[in-house]
Amino acid sequence: MQETPHQFGPETEAIRTQTARTAQKEHATPLFLTSSFVYDSAEDMAAAFQDDSLEVNIYSRFSNPTVDEFVKKVAQMEGAEAGVATGTGMAAVFSTFMTFLSQGDHILSASAVFGSTHTILTKYLPKWGISSTYFDMTKPETIEALVQPNTKMLYVETPSNPGLDIIDLALLGEICKKYDILFVVDNCFATPVVQKPMLFGADLVIHSATKFMDGQGRVLGGAVVGHSELIYQLYLLIRNTGPSMSPFNAWVLSKSLETLHLRMEKHAQNALQLAQALTHNRQVSLVKYPFLPNHPQYAVAQKQMKNGGAIVVFEVKGGLESGRRFLNALQMVSMTNNLGDSRSIASHPASTTHSKLSEQERQAVGITPGLIRVSVGLESVEDIIWDVEQALGRI
Ligand SMILES: *Cc1c(COP(=O)(O)O)cnc(C)c1O
Repeated sequence: MQETPHQFGPETEAIRTQTARTAQKEHATPLFLTSSFVYDSAEDMAAAFQDDSLEVNIYSRFSNPTVDEFVKKVAQMEGAEAGVATGTGMAAVFSTFMTFLSQGDHILSASAVFGSTHTILTKYLPKWGISSTYFDMTKPETIEALVQPNTKMLYVETPSNPGLDIIDLALLGEICKKYDILFVVDNCFATPVVQKPMLFGADLVIHSATKFMDGQGRVLGGAVVGHSELIYQLYLLIRNTGPSMSPFNAWVLSKSLETLHLRMEKHAQNALQLAQALTHNRQVSLVKYPFLPNHPQYAVAQKQMKNGGAIVVFEVKGGLESGRRFLNALQMVSMTNNLGDSRSIASHPASTTHSKLSEQERQAVGITPGLIRVSVGLESVEDIIWDVEQALGRI
C-alpha cells in the first residue's frame, strides 16, 4: 500500500521552510549577505551561466538563498506555485506592470488603490501608451461593461485603503477568465493568513512585505507570487532591471513570517474589539470594519476573509478640524502613515496622504473630512481602546 505524503499546514510551512544550511549546521536560517557566488572550476562557472533551472546562484540581483526562502514561504502561504521578491512593495507593483503590459494595452483597476499605484497608472504608464480605467468597487455589476478589446489586466486591492471597501474576488475571477484578462490582487492589507486570492482565480498576488509581513515597521520589501510561467517572466525582468530584494531584508522578513499567523489573529481580535467599542461612542458618526455586521459588504467579507484584518476606519463628528484635534490628543497610538505594525497607528487621510486630491476626488474614494484610519497593533486592547476614547473625548 502506498502512503500518501503528509501535507504540512501553513503555520508549519511558514516556520519550517528552509532553503539552505551551511556546514556549521545552524538551526536558524543563515543570512547569506553576499553579492556574488564562487565556482570550483571554469567549467562549473560556464555551466552556471547555461543553467536554466535557476538552481545555481550566480549574483544576488538574480537570486540569493535567503531571499529564496522568504519568497518560497510567501508562495506557499498564498497557495501559489512560485514567487519573486522585490526591494519594496511598489517595485513589485511596477515590475508586474512592466512585465505584462505593452504599448496599447489597457488596465481595468479599482479606483481606490494605493496612492503610488494611482500615480503609476495615471502619470507614468500613459508615457508608454498604456491606458487605464477605474471601476467603483462598490458597484461590481458595472465592471464587465468597462472591459475593452485591449484590456490585459484587472487590478484590485481588497479591503481597499482607506475606505475598507470589499469586492467579491470570485466574481472578478470569473470576469477575468471569461475575457482572458490577467487578474492581479494587491493582498497587502489582508495578508495570506486572512485571504488567499489565488483560491478565487487570481493569477498574481502582490505584497508590500513592509507592512504586516515585517510587522514591526523595520524593513521595506515586496513580493509577487502566482503561476510559475508568469513568475518566470517577472523573474527575468527583475533580474535584468534590478529592483531585487536585499538578503538582509529577506532574512528579517522570513523570520517575521514565522509569527504572521499568530500576529494577524491578535491584530484582528484587537481591531474587532476597538470597532465594537467605537460603535457606542457619541463622537463617532460611522465605524467601518469588514467583520462588523453594518459593513455594506459584510457577506462578501465573511465569504472570502478569515477575519476582519487589522484596519479600522471611523468618522469623527466635526470634520477636518476634529480629525486633526483627535490625532493631537492621542497619548499612546502613533501618528504616522505606515501601517501593519505591532504598534497601533492612527492617520487622518484628508489632511495628510490624500490632501492633494480635491474634495470631490476624496469623496469618490470614500475619504470624508473626519475619517480616521487606525492600524490596530498588538498592545493590550484595553490600552488601545482607552487612548482612542480619551482622544475622542477631547475633540
Ligand atoms: C504600502 C503599500 C504598497 C507599497 O509598498 P511599499 O513597500 O511601501 O513600496 C502597496 N500597496 C499597498 C496596499 C500598500 O499598503
